[in-house]
Amino acid sequence: ESARLNDDTMATEQTFIAIKPDGVQRGLVGPIISRFEARGYKLAAIKLMTASTSHLEKHYEDLSDKPFFPGLVKYMASGPICAMVWEGRDAVKTGRTLLGATNPLASAPGTIRGDYAIDVGRNVCHGSDSVENAKKEIALWFKEGEVQSWKSAQQDWIYEKP
Ligand code: GDP
Ligand code: MG
Repeated sequence: ESARLNDDTMATEQTFIAIKPDGVQRGLVGPIISRFEARGYKLAAIKLMTASTSHLEKHYEDLSDKPFFPGLVKYMASGPICAMVWEGRDAVKTGRTLLGATNPLASAPGTIRGDYAIDVGRNVCHGSDSVENAKKEIALWFKEGEVQSWKSAQQDWIYEKP
């Protein structure tokens, strides 16, 4: 039997999603939030924040040896970022699916990057790539008390089982 993707196998997760400075400047905060809301994910935290170079070096520490790293940090520090936590079943992997591929030219239409971006160095959004990294990123970007725990009125219309 092939792997079943359902409520028995998929856990409720939180993922860190950020609208990068280009996405904020281009007026894409609303459209990007709408896609996560419309899919059924629940907003748990949100703030607009201009990140320091040291904060971004920590966020992207795994990429510090890449040639594009200095440019990446400069781009990410160039203006406000809309930092968010989204919650729901399989939120980390499905969040990445909603974003599309890292290189927008390889992203299918219908994804955020596939609809709104062209250049890998201006790809409008970030999403955690694993549950473990999501936990690290949420802890880096949000303080205790900034992430809300709440029951959505839509919950029973989005999930079959509570
Ligand atoms: P992501 O998880 O899909 O965001 O991709 P990565 O974690 O591999 O890279 C982080 C970010 O670095 C990407 O979203 C891009 O903005 C940028 N990036 C990745 N690869 C390249 C590259 O080859 N050139 C440039 N200029 N930027 C890159
Ligand atoms: Mg990444």
